[in-house]
Amino acid sequence: MVAENSADSKNEKNDILLSTQEVIKEALDKLGYPNEAFELMKEPMRMITVRIPVRMDDGKTKVFTGYRAQHNDAIGPTKGGVRFHPNVTEKEVSALSIWMTLKSGIVDLPYGGGKGGIICDPREMSFRELEALSRGYVRALSQVVGPTKDIPAPDVFTNSQIMAWMMDEYSRIDEFNSPGFITGKPIVLGGSHGRESATAKGVTICIEEAAKKRGISVKGARVIVQGFGNAGSFLAKFMHDMGAKVIAISDAEGALHDPDGLDIDYLLDRRDSFGTVTNLFDDTITNQEMLELDTDILVPAAVQNQITEENAHNIKADIVVEAANGPTTLEATKILTERGILLVPDVLASSGGVTVSYFEWVQNNQGYYWKDEEVQEKLREVLVRSFNNVYTTSQNRQIDMRLAAYMVGVRRATEAARYRGWI
Ligand code: GLU
Repeated sequence: MVAENSADSKNEKNDILLSTQEVIKEALDKLGYPNEAFELMKEPMRMITVRIPVRMDDGKTKVFTGYRAQHNDAIGPTKGGVRFHPNVTEKEVSALSIWMTLKSGIVDLPYGGGKGGIICDPREMSFRELEALSRGYVRALSQVVGPTKDIPAPDVFTNSQIMAWMMDEYSRIDEFNSPGFITGKPIVLGGSHGRESATAKGVTICIEEAAKKRGISVKGARVIVQGFGNAGSFLAKFMHDMGAKVIAISDAEGALHDPDGLDIDYLLDRRDSFGTVTNLFDDTITNQEMLELDTDILVPAAVQNQITEENAHNIKADIVVEAANGPTTLEATKILTERGILLVPDVLASSGGVTVSYFEWVQNNQGYYWKDEEVQEKLREVLVRSFNNVYTTSQNRQIDMRLAAYMVGVRRATEAARYRGWI
């Protein structure tokens, strides 16, 4: 009985929808909004579940379950990625759609939040099966998505090829070439320069700004990057190129550590398309051991619930920048903040992706495409402004950066809902 209870309460603590709602409530209360605002914001306005039959390579039909959550469209169309993962749940997709509203609010985009997911394991599927699944998902949702309704993008285990198939399927249904239906496309199909590395670029800019506040020079700083997927691998490369010492990286199988700095170019060269590289080495340590190493900057860029009340006291970094969604629990956020560690929250740090997605959509809508330098310059401007806005809010109000980011993020959508007469 005792064991079951404590497991329940632990699950509850690590439940990302509950913890998101807790911070949203606190942020709205601090902003002085009435309870109706929380009632509106606490869950997506629309959640759709679809069943997608796919003829597999062995001739049998497998039926997959997918979701699309549209959190709030008071400001504009909903926007957010689609993840392909065996652990996708309706609850997770709901929470992630709320985070997209927050991200758009923080970087000031004319969008509300959306998110999608399909329960599947792309690591075990062929190219043909993945194409059929991607097209089936779009067919199932075609009436509720679109360039002015809800705009998908890449997320965990989805990429520009999957976006291309989805765009093609939508364009066929729509009987119109519709590049603005989805972002994160290949450049030749209307994708934007800088989109693939945008999340990592945004994290890099947040690291630079956070380092300035802490009087740390990025050049020569020790950095640990957890996760070697899209965000983690680009980030390790950017840090390395800026002269930081990347002393540890990890993937789902383990971690590599070298206090003198790892050879990042070599590791990037050897990683597979799902971001695994540590399986090629014998002398690995565990992800948990890696998180507790002595370092200046720690970047969790992998999965949820990595820094919890169990290990938060042992984190030795001065700055923690969340490139993943939800790597630090609320209890751990409190512990890190009390210990004087500067925590840059996910909804701010990982907003570079959706920012360049917005640039991509704007370019699609106007049919005029920008150079890489133009994208980079605009991204930097947005991220520096947004970081400092959240930082100043946290300093002025004497609150942690997560609550400050939620306050900045939720305010615009709530204000828009008020003007529309919804609350
Ligand atoms: N999936 C990414 C995120 O969580 C990008 C979303 C987008 O580009 O719309 O921010």
